[in-house]
Amino acid sequence: MEESGAIARLHVDVMDGHFVPNLSIGLPVVESLHQHTGLPLAVHLMVSEPGRHVKEFAAAGASLIWVHLEACQHIHRDVQLLKELGVQAGIALNPGTPLASLEEILPDLDSVLLMSVNPGFGGQTFIPGALKRVRRLRELLGGLNLRCEIAVDGGVNERTAADVARAGADVLVIGSALFRHSGGPGRAAAAILGGVG
Ligand code: ZN
Repeated sequence: MEESGAIARLHVDVMDGHFVPNLSIGLPVVESLHQHTGLPLAVHLMVSEPGRHVKEFAAAGASLIWVHLEACQHIHRDVQLLKELGVQAGIALNPGTPLASLEEILPDLDSVLLMSVNPGFGGQTFIPGALKRVRRLRELLGGLNLRCEIAVDGGVNERTAADVARAGADVLVIGSALFRHSGGPGRAAAAILGGVG
């Protein structure tokens, strides 16, 4: 993909066929992407026991890694490991997982990835309740005076992006809406960001 002002980083979905039904991109693809783009790579690990794999993904060139809270037995340890590896530390949260389960670990995080679909497949429809979760997380971070970013992943497109940004998201993860756009990813990004303002 061409580097463009509208696209700040590449979001790489890694699926293990266990935590989520699909299998997708693994380490060799991340290594290869790292060699072919100057964009930072943000790796979303949809895998069971992600703590066992983060070292390899950090070495492959990830600048930010999200592990799923639901996939970690020892979330504090896994987040500390990310920090030791020198990558930005992120936690991803499924739509049904309470935000309160993040509270103790929030001060250690650079990013929270709120899922606005159930993870595992591209092209799903945005779950409207996710907007409320973005607003609540924004309030929670404000109350604690934390600078952790909020990223939103799933069903973000020209119709939903503005609402997600207004709710308080810093980062919109856009997949199908970019790659299925008739004008190509660059035009799609411009249209979506134009709507966000
Ligand atoms: Zn993702």
